[in-house]
Amino acid sequence: MACGKPLTRDDMAMHKKLINRGAKEFLCIHCLSEHFKVDEQLVRDKIQFFKEQGCTLFSN
Ligand SMILES: [Zn+2]
Repeated sequence: MACGKPLTRDDMAMHKKLINRGAKEFLCIHCLSEHFKVDEQLVRDKIQFFKEQGCTLFSN
């Protein structure tokens, strides 16, 4: 919803996980990292982490 980039499933799952589970509009990974003032890579690492945990938001 911030930059208009096409979103991946991971972007949406991460937004739900970090901001709002019921979200209908989403931030991409880049905008999420800006929002939380962290490195984009950290967000990607988190996605990997949640996937490994078996988080249902990230299930394929
Ligand atoms: Zn964005």
